[in-house]
Amino acid sequence: MNAQGKRTWCVAGGGVLGQVIALRLAQAGHHVSVLEAAPETGGLAASWSIDDIVWDKHYHVILPADRRTLELVSELGLSSALVWKRSRTGFFADGRLSPLNSAVDYLRLPSLGILAKARLAFTLMWAARIEDGRPLDQVPVGDWLTKWSGREAYERLWRPLLRAKLGTNDDRASAAFIWATVRRLYLARSAGAKTETLGFIDGGYDRILSALRDRLSSAGVDIVTGCPITRIAPQGDQLQVETAKGARLFDDVVSTLPCGVTARLCDALSPELKARLDSVVYQGIICASLVLDRPLGGYYLTYLTDSDLPFTAVVEMSALAGRERFGGKSLVYLPRYVAQDDPFWELDDGAVRARFVAGITRIYPDLDPGAIRAFRLSRVRNVMAVPTVGYLDAVPAVETNIPGFHIVNSAQITDGTLNVDATLGVAEAALPRLLGGAMADNLSSAA
Ligand SMILES: Cc1cc2nc3c(=O)[nH]c(=O)nc-3n(C[C@H](O)[C@H](O)[C@H](O)COP(=O)(O)OP(=O)(O)OC[C@H]3O[C@@H](n4cnc5c(N)ncnc54)[C@H](O)[C@@H]3O)c2cc1C
Repeated sequence: MNAQGKRTWCVAGGGVLGQVIALRLAQAGHHVSVLEAAPETGGLAASWSIDDIVWDKHYHVILPADRRTLELVSELGLSSALVWKRSRTGFFADGRLSPLNSAVDYLRLPSLGILAKARLAFTLMWAARIEDGRPLDQVPVGDWLTKWSGREAYERLWRPLLRAKLGTNDDRASAAFIWATVRRLYLARSAGAKTETLGFIDGGYDRILSALRDRLSSAGVDIVTGCPITRIAPQGDQLQVETAKGARLFDDVVSTLPCGVTARLCDALSPELKARLDSVVYQGIICASLVLDRPLGGYYLTYLTDSDLPFTAVVEMSALAGRERFGGKSLVYLPRYVAQDDPFWELDDGAVRARFVAGITRIYPDLDPGAIRAFRLSRVRNVMAVPTVGYLDAVPAVETNIPGFHIVNSAQITDGTLNVDATLGVAEAALPRLLGGAMADNLSSAA
């Protein structure tokens, strides 16, 4: 602590969450450093270049109901760069690509009988209207969906969709997962609208991240990139943070890193807390970005239920943002959510590319592989904490057994899916406790 009673803070991880926490701590007058392992800040929301396009490494959109994200966009002076568009959704099943935007499209859905469709519609409406998903935390997702949608809709539709997002973890998830997913889809529809309204920043998330970086610099935050933290250990009444660039002492550390990573970095965490952190199951992602000479189907999102396909959805960003934003080309993402033990991780980039290109040409048989101008893969091991049955008991608290060591990460999202708005909600809930603790310490040291 310095002579003015201000504390020194280390924020571990320079994703959106770490940066927003760092900004708020600095605005409250503290000395803050952000230590980020990657060469650039931004984490999952970071951008990269592909062909001559700079856009998100992982597709990102903003929903009209994303209150906190919209407030951040406004605070960063980017509201005028926000673009709202109606999005179109597709559905590929049994070798057929169909639109899925209206009740008529829905009735025409292949591979489901009329009764199964009716029960499916009821389940969607029912889930969207549940305000409090906490009771669903104890119910296995398969049991809940079978109960409300029936076995046919579960086996033919829900199960493949769950597998698409959760891989082999689908059996472990609670019904809270599907509740949170359906509610977010529902929030993308403004009242009475037949299609979803989605927003994005002209220029991609890169603009949010660079405005955030500028704001952090002006607030005096020290941002150190290319600096993986290797150990965090108490040292007197401070914490020593070790990195490849050396060791530094801080009064407080906030880890925004995944639970298992946090547990491994800090030996002094209690065995109970380490066990709790290690019990959180993470889903990873292998996500391809493709630049094409031609459009695909015109759907921002295409759901896939065919388990033979190597990826789990098709996201045609240019169908939403407009090809004019990408120099007349199309920007397409092919995500595959991957469980930790999935052998898919072992495939090298060439093998993944061969499978993904074979998959996309199966859905779009008229796509000439020569139209693929660029292909780039992102691999991230710890993307999303899976809301397993009883997850609410596993969620780590902000405070730990070590004074000054705090955990604030996206595993603390308990009422939604992984998205920036919910992540900002985690920061919003934690900050009064972080700042309250620091203020209490300041007062006791001043006494
Ligand atoms: C495919 C995909 C699509 C998405 N689409 C949307 C969307 O449309 N809309 C939306 O709102 N959200 C979306 N999201 C979610 C959004 O990206 C996340 O909610 C948000 O970026 C999480 O931020 P975070 O800071 O919590 O985590 P992260 O971004 O994971 O940040 C953690 C940081 O910690 C760093 N780190 C890890 N280990 C260490 C270490 N040892 N030392 C130092 N640093 C370390 C990492 O490099 C990383 O930068 C999407 C995510 C994915 C993967």
